[in-house]
Amino acid sequence: MNEKEQSLDFLYKTLPEILIPWYLKHARDLPWRKDRVPYHVWLSEIMLQQTRVEAVKGYYTRFLKEFPTIADLAEADEDRLLKLWEGLGYYNRARNLQKAAKKIISENNGVFPSEYSEILTLPGIGEYTAGAIASNCFDEPVAAVDGNVLRVISRITESYEDIQKPAVKKQVKARLEAVYPRTRCGDFTQSLMELGAIVCVPSGAPKCGVCPMEDLCVAHRHGTEQKLPVKNTKKERKQEERTVFILRCGTKIAVKKRKKEGLLAGLWELPNISEKKTAKEAMEILSEWGVSPVSLKREAIRKHVFSHIQWNMTGFYVECGQEAPEMEWVCKNELGASIALPTAFRQFLDEDFFQNV
Ligand code: SF4
Repeated sequence: MNEKEQSLDFLYKTLPEILIPWYLKHARDLPWRKDRVPYHVWLSEIMLQQTRVEAVKGYYTRFLKEFPTIADLAEADEDRLLKLWEGLGYYNRARNLQKAAKKIISENNGVFPSEYSEILTLPGIGEYTAGAIASNCFDEPVAAVDGNVLRVISRITESYEDIQKPAVKKQVKARLEAVYPRTRCGDFTQSLMELGAIVCVPSGAPKCGVCPMEDLCVAHRHGTEQKLPVKNTKKERKQEERTVFILRCGTKIAVKKRKKEGLLAGLWELPNISEKKTAKEAMEILSEWGVSPVSLKREAIRKHVFSHIQWNMTGFYVECGQEAPEMEWVCKNELGASIALPTAFRQFLDEDFFQNV
């Protein structure tokens, strides 16, 4: 083993002994850390993908109140499921949760699988989530490596390898798994995530002064922590122009159900078309749709960022004389209680709009 390898080996070996005690002392009190029930850990990990901890707390509690068991989730009405997910985005996460719940009920008598390799076969569960569940709930020495963990490791070891390369992730996972403790596997997994979330943070300066790895971290010693991690393969997001119609007829608002495939599949939407239209063109389109536009109240520009695409939207608020039959016309209460309208559209329904509904 050369000197560099020896140094890496030493750094990885110190991680569990330093991070587990630190985690036990400093871990945030989060609703999904109150127990290690696989369903709870699974749900929280899925909700936390691409979503901030603070935003997830309320959703997590409401979801479990309505679907307290895997069987309840498997039997849930899809519209109700999506309504509970409204605002969290990436709705396929909710659909996959239900698919996996159905699989657990039909193929495993309702018992959550207890091994990493079996967990990995469930819909919507990748290596990261399977590792988090297996180590947290079943004390299996499997690492859960995501962008947070890769950032922490690349700083501690001062690695300039591109963390978006699958080979780098694979190597970090293997090295971590070689040093997993015999017990407290879940605490080790959580400690790495927690360090990335509250100390070795992704934006702004890392909080090295309160970091348990401060004395050993190579990037900190060399003052290079803010240059790391290296991410070279960032893809440009596609930009798409859209025109959105916020249509009101009396006290009703027009909504439509989206197609069952593709982006925001099966959810509700405000009527919209691709391309940016002028106010005049927009009114002509509405006439063709048979809503008899009476007056254009105002115009608003909004954007919504998905993982791979950004919608740049021009919204037209229009009073209509007729309810076009191919749209659903719903009142404010229905919109609140049973229609799952994604944030991309819901952001148009502001205070001003609701005042007259
Ligand atoms: S010392 Fe600083 S850069 Fe190194 S792991 Fe800790 S917070 Fe991150």
